Amino acid sequence: MGEISLFGVPVRFHFTFLFLIAFLVAAGIGSGEAGMAGDALFVIALFLCVLLHELGHALTAKRYGIRTLEIVMYPIGGVARLEKQAEPRPELIIAIAGPMVNFVIAGLLIGLMSAVKIDKAAEDVVRRIAVANIYLAVFNLLPAFPMDGGRILRAAVAMRRGEQVATRIAAQIGRGLAVLMAIYGILAGQIFLILIALLVFLAATQEGAVSEGRALTAGLPVRSAMITEFHTLPHGSTLRDAAKLLIATTQQDFPVMHGDQVVGLLDRVSFVRGMAAEGPEAYVSAVMDRAFVSLDPNRDLSESMQDMAAAGACALVMEEGRLLGLLTRENISEFLMIRKLGITPEPAATSV
Ligand SMILES: [Zn+2]
Repeated sequence: MGEISLFGVPVRFHFTFLFLIAFLVAAGIGSGEAGMAGDALFVIALFLCVLLHELGHALTAKRYGIRTLEIVMYPIGGVARLEKQAEPRPELIIAIAGPMVNFVIAGLLIGLMSAVKIDKAAEDVVRRIAVANIYLAVFNLLPAFPMDGGRILRAAVAMRRGEQVATRIAAQIGRGLAVLMAIYGILAGQIFLILIALLVFLAATQEGAVSEGRALTAGLPVRSAMITEFHTLPHGSTLRDAAKLLIATTQQDFPVMHGDQVVGLLDRVSFVRGMAAEGPEAYVSAVMDRAFVSLDPNRDLSESMQDMAAAGACALVMEEGRLLGLLTRENISEFLMIRKLGITPEPAATSV
Protein backbone atom coordinates (compact mmCIF):
# COMPACT_ATOMS: atom_id res chain seq x y z
CA MET A 1 0.00 0.00 0.00
CA GLY A 2 0.98 3.63 -0.34
CA GLU A 3 3.33 5.50 1.94
CA ILE A 4 2.97 8.88 3.59
CA SER A 5 5.17 10.71 6.05
CA LEU A 6 4.22 12.65 9.20
CA PHE A 7 6.71 14.66 11.29
CA GLY A 8 9.41 12.92 9.25
CA VAL A 9 8.07 9.46 10.17
CA PRO A 10 7.08 7.19 7.24
CA VAL A 11 3.62 5.66 7.69
CA ARG A 12 2.58 2.36 6.05
CA PHE A 13 -0.85 0.78 6.17
CA HIS A 14 -0.78 -2.97 6.61
CA PHE A 15 -3.55 -4.64 4.60
CA THR A 16 -4.89 -6.43 7.69
CA PHE A 17 -5.86 -3.03 9.08
CA LEU A 18 -9.01 -3.47 7.01
CA PHE A 19 -10.10 -6.26 9.41
CA LEU A 20 -10.46 -3.75 12.22
CA ILE A 21 -12.87 -1.67 10.21
CA ALA A 22 -14.79 -4.79 9.16
CA PHE A 23 -15.05 -5.81 12.83
CA LEU A 24 -16.23 -2.42 14.04
CA VAL A 25 -18.81 -2.22 11.26
CA ALA A 26 -19.96 -5.80 11.98
CA ALA A 27 -20.09 -5.13 15.73
CA GLY A 28 -22.59 -2.37 15.11
CA ILE A 29 -20.37 0.46 16.27
CA GLY A 30 -19.99 1.45 12.66
CA SER A 31 -23.66 1.53 11.70
CA GLY A 32 -25.70 4.41 12.93
CA GLU A 33 -28.42 6.84 12.02
CA ALA A 34 -26.24 9.06 9.87
CA GLY A 35 -26.14 6.47 7.06
CA MET A 36 -23.41 6.02 4.49
CA ALA A 37 -21.86 9.48 4.86
CA GLY A 38 -21.71 8.99 8.61
CA ASP A 39 -20.08 5.58 8.19
CA ALA A 40 -17.45 6.99 5.83
CA LEU A 41 -16.73 9.84 8.24
CA PHE A 42 -16.48 7.35 11.09
CA VAL A 43 -13.98 5.15 9.23
CA ILE A 44 -11.79 8.10 8.21
CA ALA A 45 -11.88 9.46 11.75
CA LEU A 46 -10.86 6.05 13.07
CA PHE A 47 -7.86 5.95 10.73
CA LEU A 48 -6.83 9.36 12.00
CA CYS A 49 -7.25 8.37 15.65
CA VAL A 50 -5.08 5.26 15.26
CA LEU A 51 -2.52 7.38 13.45
CA LEU A 52 -2.56 9.97 16.25
CA HIS A 53 -2.12 7.12 18.72
CA GLU A 54 1.05 6.01 16.90
CA LEU A 55 2.28 9.59 16.63
CA GLY A 56 1.81 9.77 20.40
CA HIS A 57 4.38 6.97 20.67
CA ALA A 58 6.69 8.44 18.01
CA LEU A 59 6.76 11.99 19.39
CA THR A 60 7.23 10.77 22.97
CA ALA A 61 10.11 8.58 21.79
CA LYS A 62 11.61 11.62 20.07
CA ARG A 63 11.67 13.43 23.43
CA TYR A 64 13.97 10.66 24.64
CA GLY A 65 16.14 11.02 21.54
CA ILE A 66 14.84 7.83 19.89
CA ARG A 67 14.00 7.98 16.20
CA THR A 68 10.94 6.19 14.77
CA LEU A 69 11.89 4.20 11.66
CA GLU A 70 8.29 3.80 10.49
CA ILE A 71 4.72 3.51 11.64
CA VAL A 72 2.94 0.39 10.37
CA MET A 73 -0.82 0.33 10.73
CA TYR A 74 -2.15 -3.09 11.82
CA PRO A 75 -5.73 -3.97 12.76
CA ILE A 76 -4.91 -4.00 16.47
CA GLY A 77 -3.72 -0.42 16.56
CA GLY A 78 -0.56 -0.03 14.56
CA VAL A 79 3.08 -0.26 15.51
CA ALA A 80 5.62 2.54 15.78
CA ARG A 81 8.93 0.86 14.96
CA LEU A 82 11.62 2.62 16.99
CA GLU A 83 15.29 2.56 15.96
CA LYS A 84 16.20 0.99 19.29
CA GLN A 85 14.61 -0.16 22.47
CA ALA A 86 14.34 2.45 25.18
CA GLU A 87 15.39 2.01 28.79
CA PRO A 88 12.55 0.65 30.96
CA ARG A 89 11.30 4.01 32.28
CA PRO A 90 11.19 5.82 28.91
CA GLU A 91 9.72 2.66 27.34
CA LEU A 92 6.91 2.73 29.90
CA ILE A 93 6.11 6.36 29.13
CA ILE A 94 6.40 5.88 25.36
CA ALA A 95 4.02 2.89 25.56
CA ILE A 96 1.46 4.72 27.72
CA ALA A 97 1.48 7.78 25.41
CA GLY A 98 -0.47 5.96 22.64
CA PRO A 99 -3.56 4.89 24.61
CA MET A 100 -3.50 8.28 26.39
CA VAL A 101 -3.97 9.99 23.02
CA ASN A 102 -7.17 7.95 22.47
CA PHE A 103 -8.47 8.72 25.98
CA VAL A 104 -7.81 12.42 25.38
CA ILE A 105 -9.61 12.31 22.00
CA ALA A 106 -12.59 10.53 23.60
CA GLY A 107 -12.64 13.07 26.44
CA LEU A 108 -12.52 16.02 24.06
CA LEU A 109 -15.31 14.60 21.90
CA ILE A 110 -17.54 13.90 24.91
CA GLY A 111 -16.82 17.42 26.16
CA LEU A 112 -17.67 18.81 22.73
CA MET A 113 -20.99 16.96 22.66
CA SER A 114 -22.09 18.39 25.98
CA ALA A 115 -20.87 21.92 25.22
CA VAL A 116 -22.07 22.42 21.65
CA LYS A 117 -25.53 21.67 20.33
CA ILE A 118 -25.24 19.67 17.10
CA ASP A 119 -27.90 17.83 15.17
CA LYS A 120 -28.71 14.27 16.09
CA ALA A 121 -27.04 12.53 13.12
CA ALA A 122 -23.75 14.39 13.67
CA GLU A 123 -23.90 13.74 17.40
CA ASP A 124 -24.37 10.05 16.65
CA VAL A 125 -21.17 9.96 14.56
CA VAL A 126 -19.21 11.90 17.19
CA ARG A 127 -20.38 9.52 19.90
CA ARG A 128 -19.31 6.49 17.87
CA ILE A 129 -15.86 7.99 17.30
CA ALA A 130 -15.55 8.68 21.04
CA VAL A 131 -16.58 5.11 21.93
CA ALA A 132 -14.20 3.64 19.32
CA ASN A 133 -11.33 5.63 20.89
CA ILE A 134 -12.11 4.19 24.31
CA TYR A 135 -12.15 0.71 22.70
CA LEU A 136 -8.78 1.38 21.06
CA ALA A 137 -7.23 2.59 24.29
CA VAL A 138 -8.56 -0.27 26.44
CA PHE A 139 -7.71 -2.91 23.83
CA ASN A 140 -4.17 -1.59 23.50
CA LEU A 141 -3.74 -1.70 27.26
CA LEU A 142 -4.22 -5.50 27.29
CA PRO A 143 -0.98 -6.88 28.78
CA ALA A 144 0.17 -8.75 25.65
CA PHE A 145 2.58 -7.96 22.82
CA PRO A 146 2.26 -6.31 20.39
CA MET A 147 -0.23 -4.23 22.34
CA ASP A 148 1.09 -1.35 24.42
CA GLY A 149 -0.03 -3.11 27.58
CA GLY A 150 2.60 -5.78 26.87
CA ARG A 151 5.31 -3.15 26.67
CA ILE A 152 4.06 -1.38 29.81
CA LEU A 153 4.12 -4.70 31.64
CA ARG A 154 7.63 -5.55 30.43
CA ALA A 155 8.99 -2.09 31.27
CA ALA A 156 7.44 -2.22 34.74
CA VAL A 157 8.93 -5.66 35.46
CA ALA A 158 12.28 -4.68 33.86
CA MET A 159 12.70 -1.81 36.33
CA ARG A 160 12.93 -4.37 39.14
CA ARG A 161 14.12 -7.60 37.59
CA GLY A 162 16.07 -6.79 34.43
CA GLU A 163 15.09 -6.88 30.78
CA GLN A 164 15.56 -10.58 30.08
CA VAL A 165 13.32 -11.80 32.89
CA ALA A 166 10.79 -9.06 32.11
CA THR A 167 10.53 -10.03 28.45
CA ARG A 168 10.11 -13.70 29.29
CA ILE A 169 7.32 -12.93 31.77
CA ALA A 170 5.61 -10.50 29.37
CA ALA A 171 5.84 -12.98 26.48
CA GLN A 172 4.36 -15.77 28.62
CA ILE A 173 1.48 -13.60 29.82
CA GLY A 174 0.91 -12.52 26.19
CA ARG A 175 0.75 -16.12 25.01
CA GLY A 176 -1.56 -17.07 27.89
CA LEU A 177 -3.87 -14.19 27.10
CA ALA A 178 -3.85 -15.18 23.42
CA VAL A 179 -4.91 -18.73 24.31
CA LEU A 180 -7.75 -17.43 26.52
CA MET A 181 -8.79 -15.07 23.73
CA ALA A 182 -8.81 -17.91 21.20
CA ILE A 183 -10.88 -20.17 23.50
CA TYR A 184 -13.39 -17.38 24.05
CA GLY A 185 -13.40 -16.67 20.31
CA ILE A 186 -14.17 -20.31 19.53
CA LEU A 187 -16.92 -20.55 22.18
CA ALA A 188 -18.49 -17.26 21.14
CA GLY A 189 -18.07 -17.99 17.43
CA GLN A 190 -16.03 -14.78 16.97
CA ILE A 191 -13.68 -15.54 14.09
CA PHE A 192 -12.12 -12.08 14.32
CA LEU A 193 -11.12 -12.69 17.93
CA ILE A 194 -9.47 -16.01 17.00
CA LEU A 195 -7.50 -14.17 14.32
CA ILE A 196 -6.32 -11.53 16.79
CA ALA A 197 -5.42 -14.25 19.28
CA LEU A 198 -3.23 -15.87 16.64
CA LEU A 199 -1.52 -12.54 15.86
CA VAL A 200 -0.96 -11.87 19.57
CA PHE A 201 0.45 -15.36 20.10
CA LEU A 202 2.90 -15.00 17.20
CA ALA A 203 3.89 -11.49 18.25
CA ALA A 204 4.54 -12.56 21.84
CA THR A 205 6.70 -15.45 20.66
CA GLN A 206 8.62 -13.27 18.21
CA GLU A 207 9.11 -10.45 20.69
CA GLY A 208 10.44 -12.96 23.19
CA ALA A 209 12.92 -14.37 20.67
CA VAL A 210 14.08 -10.97 19.40
CA SER A 211 14.58 -9.67 22.90
CA GLU A 212 16.40 -12.80 24.03
CA GLY A 213 18.68 -12.52 21.00
CA ARG A 214 19.37 -8.90 21.87
CA ALA A 215 20.20 -9.76 25.46
CA LEU A 216 22.52 -12.60 24.37
CA THR A 217 24.41 -10.46 21.85
CA ALA A 218 24.55 -7.09 23.63
CA GLY A 219 28.06 -5.92 24.47
CA LEU A 220 29.74 -8.50 22.23
CA PRO A 221 31.50 -7.52 19.00
CA VAL A 222 30.62 -8.89 15.56
CA ARG A 223 34.00 -10.66 15.45
CA SER A 224 32.99 -12.99 18.27
CA ALA A 225 30.24 -14.56 16.14
CA MET A 226 31.85 -14.52 12.70
CA ILE A 227 33.04 -17.51 10.66
CA THR A 228 36.81 -17.31 10.36
CA GLU A 229 37.48 -20.49 8.38
CA PHE A 230 35.97 -20.16 4.94
CA HIS A 231 36.69 -20.47 1.25
CA THR A 232 36.76 -17.67 -1.29
CA LEU A 233 36.53 -17.71 -5.07
CA PRO A 234 38.96 -15.86 -7.38
CA HIS A 235 37.02 -13.51 -9.67
CA GLY A 236 38.07 -15.59 -12.70
CA SER A 237 36.26 -18.71 -11.41
CA THR A 238 33.30 -20.18 -13.23
CA LEU A 239 30.02 -21.28 -11.74
CA ARG A 240 31.27 -24.84 -12.26
CA ASP A 241 34.12 -24.10 -9.81
CA ALA A 242 31.60 -22.59 -7.40
CA ALA A 243 29.42 -25.70 -7.68
CA LYS A 244 32.40 -27.88 -6.71
CA LEU A 245 33.01 -25.78 -3.57
CA LEU A 246 29.32 -25.76 -2.75
CA ILE A 247 29.38 -29.58 -2.72
CA ALA A 248 32.76 -30.00 -1.03
CA THR A 249 32.14 -27.58 1.86
CA THR A 250 29.22 -26.72 4.12
CA GLN A 251 29.54 -23.13 2.97
CA GLN A 252 26.76 -21.56 0.90
CA ASP A 253 28.07 -18.04 0.40
CA PHE A 254 31.44 -17.28 -1.16
CA PRO A 255 33.29 -13.97 -1.16
CA VAL A 256 34.66 -13.31 -4.65
CA MET A 257 38.21 -11.97 -4.57
CA HIS A 258 40.41 -9.98 -6.91
CA GLY A 259 43.80 -10.47 -5.28
CA ASP A 260 43.12 -9.63 -1.63
CA GLN A 261 40.26 -7.29 -2.50
CA VAL A 262 36.65 -8.42 -2.14
CA VAL A 263 34.75 -7.60 -5.33
CA GLY A 264 31.48 -9.38 -4.62
CA LEU A 265 29.55 -12.11 -2.87
CA LEU A 266 28.25 -15.24 -4.55
CA ASP A 267 25.37 -16.48 -2.42
CA ARG A 268 23.08 -19.39 -3.15
CA VAL A 269 20.42 -17.23 -4.73
CA SER A 270 22.79 -15.57 -7.20
CA PHE A 271 24.45 -18.94 -7.88
CA VAL A 272 21.14 -20.63 -8.77
CA ARG A 273 19.98 -17.64 -10.78
CA GLY A 274 23.32 -17.51 -12.65
CA MET A 275 23.26 -21.23 -13.41
CA ALA A 276 19.73 -20.98 -14.79
CA ALA A 277 20.43 -17.91 -16.90
CA GLU A 278 24.03 -18.41 -18.06
CA GLY A 279 25.02 -22.02 -17.42
CA PRO A 280 28.06 -23.50 -15.63
CA GLU A 281 30.73 -21.82 -17.80
CA ALA A 282 29.69 -18.29 -16.79
CA TYR A 283 32.12 -16.34 -14.62
CA VAL A 284 31.15 -15.79 -10.98
CA SER A 285 31.98 -12.10 -11.45
CA ALA A 286 29.09 -11.84 -13.90
CA VAL A 287 26.42 -13.10 -11.50
CA MET A 288 27.76 -12.22 -8.02
CA ASP A 289 26.18 -9.62 -5.75
CA ARG A 290 28.31 -6.46 -5.83
CA ALA A 291 26.15 -4.62 -3.28
CA PHE A 292 26.96 -6.99 -0.40
CA VAL A 293 26.62 -5.83 3.20
CA SER A 294 29.87 -5.38 5.12
CA LEU A 295 30.12 -5.14 8.89
CA ASP A 296 32.79 -3.69 11.16
CA PRO A 297 34.28 -6.48 13.32
CA ASN A 298 34.20 -4.29 16.44
CA ARG A 299 30.60 -3.18 16.07
CA ASP A 300 28.15 -4.37 18.70
CA LEU A 301 26.59 -7.62 17.53
CA SER A 302 23.11 -6.70 18.78
CA GLU A 303 23.24 -3.47 16.75
CA SER A 304 24.29 -5.39 13.63
CA MET A 305 21.15 -7.53 13.62
CA GLN A 306 19.29 -4.92 11.60
CA ASP A 307 22.04 -4.86 8.98
CA MET A 308 21.87 -8.64 8.89
CA ALA A 309 18.15 -8.40 8.14
CA ALA A 310 19.04 -6.23 5.14
CA ALA A 311 21.93 -8.48 4.12
CA GLY A 312 19.83 -11.60 3.84
CA ALA A 313 21.71 -14.82 4.51
CA CYS A 314 25.29 -13.55 4.69
CA ALA A 315 27.27 -10.39 5.44
CA LEU A 316 31.02 -9.89 5.10
CA VAL A 317 33.04 -8.76 8.11
CA MET A 318 35.64 -6.28 6.90
CA GLU A 319 38.18 -3.99 8.49
CA GLU A 320 39.79 -1.27 6.35
CA GLY A 321 38.91 -3.12 3.17
CA ARG A 322 40.32 -6.39 4.45
CA LEU A 323 38.07 -9.45 4.64
CA LEU A 324 38.14 -10.97 8.14
CA GLY A 325 35.16 -13.27 8.21
CA LEU A 326 31.58 -14.08 7.31
CA LEU A 327 28.49 -13.56 9.39
CA THR A 328 25.57 -15.81 8.43
CA ARG A 329 22.13 -16.32 9.93
CA GLU A 330 22.98 -19.92 10.60
CA ASN A 331 26.12 -18.97 12.48
CA ILE A 332 24.28 -16.38 14.54
CA SER A 333 21.76 -19.00 15.65
CA GLU A 334 24.62 -21.34 16.59
CA PHE A 335 26.22 -18.45 18.47
CA LEU A 336 22.96 -17.79 20.35
CA MET A 337 22.64 -21.47 21.22
CA ILE A 338 26.15 -21.52 22.66
CA ARG A 339 25.52 -18.30 24.59
CA LYS A 340 22.33 -19.80 26.01
CA LEU A 341 24.38 -22.70 27.32
CA GLY A 342 26.40 -20.14 29.22
CA ILE A 343 29.54 -19.99 27.07
CA THR A 344 30.87 -16.71 25.71
CA PRO A 345 32.90 -17.50 22.58
CA GLU A 346 36.31 -15.79 22.47
CA PRO A 347 36.43 -13.04 19.85
CA ALA A 348 38.48 -14.19 16.87
CA ALA A 349 41.91 -12.60 16.43
CA THR A 350 42.15 -9.77 13.91
CA SER A 351 44.93 -11.23 11.78
CA VAL A 352 44.02 -13.87 9.20
ZN1 LIG B 1 0.23 1.84 20.77
